[in-house]
Amino acid sequence: MLKITLATGNKHKVDEINLIAKDFNIEFVLPKGEFNPVEDGSTFLENAYCKAKCACQQGDTDLYLADDSGLCVDYLDGAPGIKSARYESTPQKRIEKVLKKLENVDDINKRSAHFTCAMVVVDKNAKILFQTEKYCFGHILKKQKGENGFGYDPIFYVDEKNCSMAQLSPDEKAHVSHRSRALNDVLKWLCANYLQEI
Ligand code: IMP
Repeated sequence: MLKITLATGNKHKVDEINLIAKDFNIEFVLPKGEFNPVEDGSTFLENAYCKAKCACQQGDTDLYLADDSGLCVDYLDGAPGIKSARYESTPQKRIEKVLKKLENVDDINKRSAHFTCAMVVVDKNAKILFQTEKYCFGHILKKQKGENGFGYDPIFYVDEKNCSMAQLSPDEKAHVSHRSRALNDVLKWLCANYLQEI
């Protein structure tokens, strides 16, 4: 079993990633202790690398995977973007802020948005071994729908699924999400370089 430290303090994210990677011989684990990286990059990839460097100092694995993700709304020039987690003080307030900014936008084409996920794999010396960025396209709903997932899921309508991200089961989300698409790139690279698919 290949053990990889996932650069996050969010147990929900570890579970989501272990679910996506369930057919591979890999276990993603949390860093040791409290995980508080300084994210001072100006892109998703740069911030993923900030987290990866920090995780290297709090783990005992050979490989470290970091991701940085967020919601980019076209009408808001890509906001909340890399500030998605800090756009407001609580997940509900963040949702309300996006809805409020779009309240007068009735044309569905102007409500287009996408989730972005950047992933970086580094070794224990923080050397970048692999990186990728993937997306999930949709638009912002007028009001919240669905109970699953987290973050902005209830207001994000997934075009290819015809429902909100929060109406998808964890398995369904694992097929379409920005995170699963980026992780699939990482898994392909890991298979080619570190392990054999079961
Ligand atoms: P981070 O990648 O952990 O820094 O997360 C950034 C923020 O983007 C999260 O706190 C959420 O607000 C938002 N976000 C990222 N991925 C998702 C998702 O799959 N669903 C809903 N919100 C997300």
